[in-house]
Amino acid sequence: MTRNKIFGISANLFNGDEPFAYAKRAGVYNEYCQSVQLAGGIPIILPPLSGQAAIELQLNLIDVLLLSGGSDISPSAYGEDPSPLLGKTNTERDSYELTLVKMAHAKKIPIFGICRGLQLINVAFGGTLYQDLSLRQGSWTGHKQQIRADEPVHNITIAESSLLCSIIGQKNLESNSFHHQGVKQLAPGFTANAWAEDGLIEGIEMCGTAPILGVQWHPEMLALQMPSMLKIFAYFNHLEVH
Ligand code: MN
Repeated sequence: MTRNKIFGISANLFNGDEPFAYAKRAGVYNEYCQSVQLAGGIPIILPPLSGQAAIELQLNLIDVLLLSGGSDISPSAYGEDPSPLLGKTNTERDSYELTLVKMAHAKKIPIFGICRGLQLINVAFGGTLYQDLSLRQGSWTGHKQQIRADEPVHNITIAESSLLCSIIGQKNLESNSFHHQGVKQLAPGFTANAWAEDGLIEGIEMCGTAPILGVQWHPEMLALQMPSMLKIFAYFNHLEVH
């Protein structure tokens, strides 16, 4: 019987509310936690820490690393100057997660990245990003949807031979979309497994002892109503890593 895996979810840093408006809140939308629990796992939230020793102790607590969504990654992480179209960044979260993802992989902890999480994986392993999708020739403007996250807006085609296809069991998917950046140069060792109709990469993976999977959309906002989205979380709960 599969035990309940502990999913460590990397926290986003949100602006505080009055009277603590100057402060930051570390957390995630509760849909991440609900999706993990619905898939049989137990979520814990990992706030950004500094220092490898502290991160090592965090990683000792978890079976799966889930990288959550959030703001843009500083382009200095992939050797570019900021474009005027770059959105908000947070170097504290960037440096924490870049270390976290590399240490998790070295410890053979499976990694699942959502939205910014996919982008973080790509950058951590040597890839680059479009700082804004308007800088990509032929990109469609609808990747930043204006309607609720539980309403899918665009189609995604999934590679038949991919890990993602074996998890979801279908080659097409209706997804939501809340990103203005995307994968430019794919990190070495990774393959793209899903694309939007404008050709933009919507999923990446690296198979192996401890798989790494990234999706550009937000399955946590759809998992309560779409079994195909919940299957991705369930895959990580059932995974046995030796
Ligand atoms: Mn999209």
